[in-house]
Amino acid sequence: MGSVYKRMQEVLNSFKRDYDLSDMNANDELLLDNLARIFARLETIEVRIDKSDSVSDLDRLTRIAERLRGDASRIQNDLSITRRQRKGEKEEDLVTYITDIKIRAKKMLNERLSYVYCPKCKMLLATVWFLYPDEKRNAVRIKCGRVIDSDEGIICNHDFAVTSQELKENKNMNLFEGSEEILPT
Ligand SMILES: [Zn+2]
Repeated sequence: MGSVYKRMQEVLNSFKRDYDLSDMNANDELLLDNLARIFARLETIEVRIDKSDSVSDLDRLTRIAERLRGDASRIQNDLSITRRQRKGEKEEDLVTYITDIKIRAKKMLNERLSYVYCPKCKMLLATVWFLYPDEKRNAVRIKCGRVIDSDEGIICNHDFAVTSQELKENKNMNLFEGSEEILPT
């Protein structure tokens, strides 16, 4: 009996290692204990069947083994062991899922973020996300505050407006002289 119990614990541990059983209730855990005990008993009975040299023993042991297999498959159904995810699969799915989200987020940002440069001093002043880029009247007006010469206290002061439509049609960037040279790749 001692060795069956030890084997039962080993079977139990392998279940817990291989399957995500975190949602099990107390009753499920009792069933799982039973299942492990049945597997451990089956192993010892199969050894005895192999060693058996009397027909009546063989017949008796085979019937016991069949009953145990029936019990085991019933419990496995009740616990839906076979439908449970193996731990490795679940973790792999999560990694794929997160990577996928990152790629989609980056793609979305690249599609939606526009770069607005000062047409006069060519400085990047804003990255803009228009919620309605197709609405033709949507525009932002910016006054460039870049300091051109700090000694003289001169600032660019260029005042300009850009529409979402213009940004959309020019690879998410505003048009100005020399803008094609700094187009984002
Ligand atoms: Zn400027």
